[in-house]
Amino acid sequence: MSRRLWKYCNKVFSCDSLIHQLQSVGFSKKYNAPLLASIFLLAMSLRLPSINAIELTFKNNRKSWRKLLVSKCLPSASTMERALGKIDVAGLRHINDAIVHKLRRNKAYRIDALSHGLMAAAVDGHETFKSRKRCCKKCLKRKITVNGRKVTEYYHRYAVCQLILAAIPVVIDIEPFLPHEGEVAAAKRMIIRILENHPRLIDVFSFDALYLDSTLLNMLDEHGKFWIVVLKQENRQAYADIDRLLKIQKPHALEVPDKNVLLWDFHDLVSWDNLDKPFRAVVSEEHWLEWTLDKQGKKIKEGKTSHWRWLTNMPTIYPDHFIYDFGHGRWNIENRGFNELTNQCHFDHPFHHQPNALLAMLWFISIAFILSYTFFNQNLKPQLRKLIQSRMQLVELLKQSLFESKLSLFTLSP
Ligand SMILES: [Zn+2]
Repeated sequence: MSRRLWKYCNKVFSCDSLIHQLQSVGFSKKYNAPLLASIFLLAMSLRLPSINAIELTFKNNRKSWRKLLVSKCLPSASTMERALGKIDVAGLRHINDAIVHKLRRNKAYRIDALSHGLMAAAVDGHETFKSRKRCCKKCLKRKITVNGRKVTEYYHRYAVCQLILAAIPVVIDIEPFLPHEGEVAAAKRMIIRILENHPRLIDVFSFDALYLDSTLLNMLDEHGKFWIVVLKQENRQAYADIDRLLKIQKPHALEVPDKNVLLWDFHDLVSWDNLDKPFRAVVSEEHWLEWTLDKQGKKIKEGKTSHWRWLTNMPTIYPDHFIYDFGHGRWNIENRGFNELTNQCHFDHPFHHQPNALLAMLWFISIAFILSYTFFNQNLKPQLRKLIQSRMQLVELLKQSLFESKLSLFTLSP
């Protein structure tokens, strides 16, 4: 199975040649960057939880690893940590870019069926871990109260752009927050890079209310991109304007399974004067029933309600239910992308607490996740699919087969 996965990665994405393009500055000939990157990619596709766990598999399967990596020597935990501290993070992003584009050319995202033919991405802040004891020079700090005492907590947070409403939830880009900077500043830096590196990749950016930032939205508009932002009461002018319109305009019903949804669509609004152009607002009122337990522990159906307001620059040729889908599509990121990345792939684990190392591991985990996700979705024959029903089962099978195969997977020569 591992041989099949690696062959697939090389055939479809030319992974081996991409890994060889990584900068080797600061690396020795014996433990070069491609060798170390291959180890991390392989270890993350096996979902190993730490550097020590990688070192342990070297000890337990020394012969197989040597054969796999075509290398007489296997790095120690401290060599791996040093390598992560200096590995070429821009090069890792480039490997991810190549995979993202190849999947698009192969029509693997199925956007025609899932997202109205538009490439949509959500931008969010993601905190990976926190500590009250250890810090590095790029740690963010905050004061928290523990047992009545104020203490400093150190943490790292990243802006992440991930595809939504697509068959494969690829991570498009990751940008660390710098100390003393807000979420929008880091996200803006990332979005500018996305627009420069991939001017035609994404059509719609979906944000939460934190991103109601007119310079960001005006910039996206100038680049011909659509944006959708959740509106909260903090933006008083626009909120009050919509309150007034809700009283005079009638909604229409939207057909959604298991939900009653009413939609309002308001165009050519100008009540937020920091925006260069008039904007559009879509409001949804949603009612549904949910199973819950009453005070006696009996299962009952309870009525639930939610109210959403989105602002957007999407013109009216795109119906309001598109905006409803893209607005709610942000939850897709939580459910499909991040849940699995954090709960099963150790996305939040600090493999080595050093700024370059932390970012590099996020890339290794994301790339390994997408490669095995795509392999699972697209490359398993029907007979195998009966045996392997989840991605977790695929990981188990990879672990078993990797050390049995006695074959060289890599063409690396240290
Ligand atoms: Zn730190």
